[in-house]
Amino acid sequence: MSASPAVRNAAADRPVNFSAGPAILPLEVLEEAARGVIALDGIGLSVMEISHRSAAFETIYERAHEGLKRLLRVPDTHEVLFLQGGARGQFAQVPLNFLKQGQTARFVVSGYWAQGALEEAATLGQAEALVSSEDRQFAELPSLDGVDIPKGTAYVHTTSNNTLYGTQWPQMPSFGPDVRHVCDMSSDILSRPIDVSDYALIYAGAQKNAGPSGITIVIVDKQWMAEGRQDIPKIWRYDVMAKNQSMYNTPPTFAIYCVDLVAQWLEGLGGLDAIAERNETKARLLYDAIDGSGGFYRGTVTRPEHRSRMTVTYRLPSEQLDKQFVAESAGQGLVGLKGHRAVGGIRASIYNAMDVAGVERLVDFMQDFARRHG
Ligand code: PMP
Repeated sequence: MSASPAVRNAAADRPVNFSAGPAILPLEVLEEAARGVIALDGIGLSVMEISHRSAAFETIYERAHEGLKRLLRVPDTHEVLFLQGGARGQFAQVPLNFLKQGQTARFVVSGYWAQGALEEAATLGQAEALVSSEDRQFAELPSLDGVDIPKGTAYVHTTSNNTLYGTQWPQMPSFGPDVRHVCDMSSDILSRPIDVSDYALIYAGAQKNAGPSGITIVIVDKQWMAEGRQDIPKIWRYDVMAKNQSMYNTPPTFAIYCVDLVAQWLEGLGGLDAIAERNETKARLLYDAIDGSGGFYRGTVTRPEHRSRMTVTYRLPSEQLDKQFVAESAGQGLVGLKGHRAVGGIRASIYNAMDVAGVERLVDFMQDFARRHG
């Protein structure tokens, strides 16, 4: 998939988008989606105008589903679902299905979203922190050294990339075959290869690396899914959704169409090994600029091995300079760099669709800004 020369020209002065989400999408995907909004090839109608039960949509659904399965090497033991309600929906749906009386859900509390997942589970059953790095202001990942998983644990919940604090597990922790591992991969899904068989359930809102908002990717162990509660509303049951190809109700057809396009784009680039390499390169460029600034820019993550390849967070010598940096960068077409309101500072989200040239533009701006204000 490649963008037409006309769109490339028109896009030459588009802002470089560092937004945390909804976030940057590949230009090729946007152009193809724009065509699909008007008329699908061979159908003549908009992708938004056709039945989710039509053969044309079935083809799109299958391609998106198979594309994700190939990219993530999803084994036959696991089901891929397209749900609604975002990651926060999963904060509730996972315990609703799997947190039973007498069990406890245990959370690796590595940031704001992990804390949110714990709090939501606690409204439905017994939930507690297994470990937390809150006492370190989430500037590093919590240590799991010497931590045993108590009996009666329904599942352990982790967050692979902490979208506010700029930490990411270099390798996801493993809890052994007897522990159900549930992971929120909202802000780094499809950014690197993973071993799906390590997880009982993976979920991710699509709006950072996989498509537009409005769709949530869930990958669930089929055996575990069959053990889910049956006495809850059908619309919230994973097994009901799986039996109905995620179409128990009308799915977000346009969003699924975009996920299909993103998956095709990623496969065209060479899949997750290739994108992981490009993501490493981008992150290295930015961290080198931070570390080479003589202290003008300070990374917020205290342990270098916990630094994220998706979410690069840093501060300037004062809040006033943080503000000035955000304003001036926006003036130069570098947008979305303001840190989350709960944290402040600068946050550059460099998801899959950001190319190396976009990061180089930010690095050039950082060096120029530091020269002028350092
Ligand atoms: N988890 C993580 C790691 C996130 O980054 C976000 C959104 N930034 C959420 C959960 C919440 O996602 P949603 O808005 O799709 O519910």
